[in-house]
Amino acid sequence: MSQLVRVAIGADFPEIQWPACCPECGTTKSLLRSTSRLGRVKSIRPNLAGGLTMKSEVMYLNYWICPAHAAETRWANLLLDKSPLMHLIRFIFYMGAVFALGLLLGPRRLSTFPELGPMLALPLIGIFGVAGLIWARMASSVRPMRFDPDQDVIEIQFRQAPYATRFRVMNREATSSQHTEETPWFRRSIVWKLIVIVLFIAFMARMMK
Ligand SMILES: [Zn+2]
Repeated sequence: MSQLVRVAIGADFPEIQWPACCPECGTTKSLLRSTSRLGRVKSIRPNLAGGLTMKSEVMYLNYWICPAHAAETRWANLLLDKSPLMHLIRFIFYMGAVFALGLLLGPRRLSTFPELGPMLALPLIGIFGVAGLIWARMASSVRPMRFDPDQDVIEIQFRQAPYATRFRVMNREATSSQHTEETPWFRRSIVWKLIVIVLFIAFMARMMK
């Protein structure tokens, strides 16, 4: 069973410690360092030069892993990466998959598909892409999930629970519930933003009457 671990980050906490064993098979022999990236876009604003300025935050997780599982996790995490480029690529995958469903469920007969020519590439990319994403979710042993939007906390998903336990023990302070407890709903910034938007719309609706 995979486990989601919340880790407090920032100057008050020591650097994240990683168990000296493979997060997947637990071996302690011939380990190598592998890096997975966790990023988020903080804001995108138009700038004076007419372009867009993007503020983002990136963190690198640098853990021990055996060579056999390193490649698997690296590929899986690349597919699931939160970078703008990968968001775009995943969007293309989903579009392709929707296109493929439309083709398969639509009136067009299978024997006439080759007539579509290069157009057929999109649904094929969609099918393989979405299959790849499903595989990646299952294959990643150490998966950086996200930055908590309201706290200096990151979430990492470990596929193997015993490894997650070892990780918690090594980072007792940073993973303690005292430092990582989720912000209650009424203190989340998103809730207040939504309330302001709803009030504003209600106000506008009254003004328009
Ligand atoms: Zn391994």
